[in-house]
Amino acid sequence: MSASDTQVSAIEVARVAKTFPVRGGLFARPKMLRAVEDASFVLPLGGTFGLVGESGSGKSTLAKIILGADDASQGNVFFGERVFGKHTQAKDVRWRQRAVQAVLQDPFGSLDPHMTISDIVLEPLRIQRSGLARAVLDKRLDELLAQVGLPAEFKRRRPGELSGGQRQRVAIARALVLEPEILVLDEPVSALDVSIQAQVLNLLKDLQDALGLSYLLISHDLAVVAFMSSHIGVLYLGRFMERGTREDIVERAAHPYTHALIAASEPDSFAVEPIGGEIPSPLAPPSGCVFHTRCPAVRDVCRTEAPPDYQWSATHRVMCHFPIASKQT
Ligand code: ADP
Ligand code: MG
Repeated sequence: MSASDTQVSAIEVARVAKTFPVRGGLFARPKMLRAVEDASFVLPLGGTFGLVGESGSGKSTLAKIILGADDASQGNVFFGERVFGKHTQAKDVRWRQRAVQAVLQDPFGSLDPHMTISDIVLEPLRIQRSGLARAVLDKRLDELLAQVGLPAEFKRRRPGELSGGQRQRVAIARALVLEPEILVLDEPVSALDVSIQAQVLNLLKDLQDALGLSYLLISHDLAVVAFMSSHIGVLYLGRFMERGTREDIVERAAHPYTHALIAASEPDSFAVEPIGGEIPSPLAPPSGCVFHTRCPAVRDVCRTEAPPDYQWSATHRVMCHFPIASKQT
């Protein structure tokens, strides 16, 4: 039996869809924008599921649904026995508010620049458990700053005095203050210099090992996702083109879109536009396979028929009429 057969899931996303009504004009009827279409995946306990795709592919929409910041139009999200969907229970909502926390690309965009680092990190704890003694709060703050590799004197500083990397460390400390079980990391290093990105990603790995966290990591950058993830899903126009273990996706990619993403992420790639053309509007997705307008391997059937979601191996799924068989070694 392989390890994956016995793995317990931290998150299971089951057939989730999200549509947004959008108005074309004052007198136009609202159109339905299908941001996420029938998405399913499992994040194993203690693992990292990397969600990769171009801008507009539905990554943040899925993140918001998992965090409870938005509702799914269809489908369910399971955290173990807890189910979120049509029949969400209030006690589970309270659990999620503590146990599932977020680190976003620019967490300081929404925060008061006059707040101190101390207030920023401790705010969720103050809201969730009012009346904690000052000494208890101070001790927790010192512990968290040490955990994220910031000197204790930073607690009196304000966001404007910190570098981008330091601010992201503060955001991680704030996300950890309630002792969560799962972190949703939505483009956590996209705003940082490449040299700083590796430091923050390594910190996240160390914290995962030390605290037994499960991560949903979102990035448009396959290199970031490949570095961090145990499992990967490739999204395109709200649909999973391919899902599998890290090795399934990085070493045995079967979807032409994944191949294009890999080619684009090679360090010596000179391709400015590896795939060519623009991502179509989700208001008017292409017929058949949604990737057919940009696919280098397109054939007639791809233009008219939606591809099946092939079970390519025990761990690997690919939504393509003509998956690319890799040479097995
Ligand atoms: P990503 O994070 O992969 O860049 P998003 O999940 O933010 O993608 O967006 C997916 C699609 O849904 C995009 O076409 C976006 O314009 C649309 N979208 C996201 N949020 C809303 C909203 N609140 N109302 C209407 N459209 C939205
Ligand atoms: Mg996004």
